[in-house]
Amino acid sequence: MQFQVQPSGTPVDGEARAEVLAAPTFGRVFTDHMVTVGWTAELGWHDARLAAYAPVLVDPASVVLHYGQTVFEGLKAYRQPDGGVALFRPERNAARMTASCRRLALPQLPEEAFVQACELLVRTDAGWVPDGEGATLYLRPFMYADEVGLGVRPSQSARFQVIASPAGNYFSGPLRPVSLWLSQEYVRAAPGGTGAAKCGGNYAAGLVAQQEAIDHGCDQVVYLDAAEHRWLEELGGMNVFLVLDDGTLVTPELGTILEGVTRDCVISLARERGHAVEERRVDVDEWRKGALDGRVVEAFACGTAAVLTPIGALRWPDGEVVTGNGQPGPVTIALREALLDLQYGRAPDPHGWLHRVL
Ligand SMILES: *Cc1c(COP(=O)(O)O)cnc(C)c1O
Repeated sequence: MQFQVQPSGTPVDGEARAEVLAAPTFGRVFTDHMVTVGWTAELGWHDARLAAYAPVLVDPASVVLHYGQTVFEGLKAYRQPDGGVALFRPERNAARMTASCRRLALPQLPEEAFVQACELLVRTDAGWVPDGEGATLYLRPFMYADEVGLGVRPSQSARFQVIASPAGNYFSGPLRPVSLWLSQEYVRAAPGGTGAAKCGGNYAAGLVAQQEAIDHGCDQVVYLDAAEHRWLEELGGMNVFLVLDDGTLVTPELGTILEGVTRDCVISLARERGHAVEERRVDVDEWRKGALDGRVVEAFACGTAAVLTPIGALRWPDGEVVTGNGQPGPVTIALREALLDLQYGRAPDPHGWLHRVL
């Protein structure tokens, strides 16, 4: 795909940018540029361009504002030891966006164009990629239906965009275990639903459950399956793993959960380190009992934003268990370090996961 490049006439000056990069927050400040590609049923993909970051004009009757026809992705650019910049497995995000678009009846952007768009934005705004432990440039590709009309049918018009935001650690401060609220009332996904798609609606539907978690003093909500309220699924935006006392890793099987790129990396890295990994149904009581009798020694959540984050307390209305001793466990720490070493180019990359941009 050919992208027209229209550089911003008013980029943020170096001093102000340095200030942002010295203490990046998550998703509040954006870089100088964004990528946009239009689509209509008639023209197909067209008008691909990189231009100044700016608000978009959306008609009040746009499909996305009423029916939520939208999907997104999340990936990061990492500063490399030689000063260059790399993306990490962007083709996995491209493929997942295609799958999400299929489920949401949105047009499918060619996967090479997705990667090209990310590369172009990172190359143009490379000065926004922070240095320092845990710091990255977070990329947010997304697509939304912008046809004007309230008729309920797949939009005949859509827009793909990529924006970028310098990011520090997702959970601020030193690595500390997060606490989870086991939702009793709400489910995230059901068979035949949109659980495997990265769509805004899943997040909108989870906000009330996330608020319930916070009201109970927990960091995040964890969901069980819709039918039996028994099988572990995932967090609102992260996959979940348990570590058993014999070193086996257990994680819920695919189906109604989001297929995380981080989840896939963890499975590979763990197997290479000699761990058995089981993708299967996980009864929440296996966790609750196992945390008490010592069978489950660690639990962690994983996703691009938070990498691997240890889980401490699991809480529900009339109880709580703490996995391990409430401190980050050795397997969690080792896998987290292994993944970060790959992403920051500090370790050999036998899988070819790094995708150099500069
Ligand atoms: C994005 C996301 C994840 C993590 O996926 P990664 O590719 O590892 O970032 C997990 N669960 C949900 C619901 C998500 O939206």
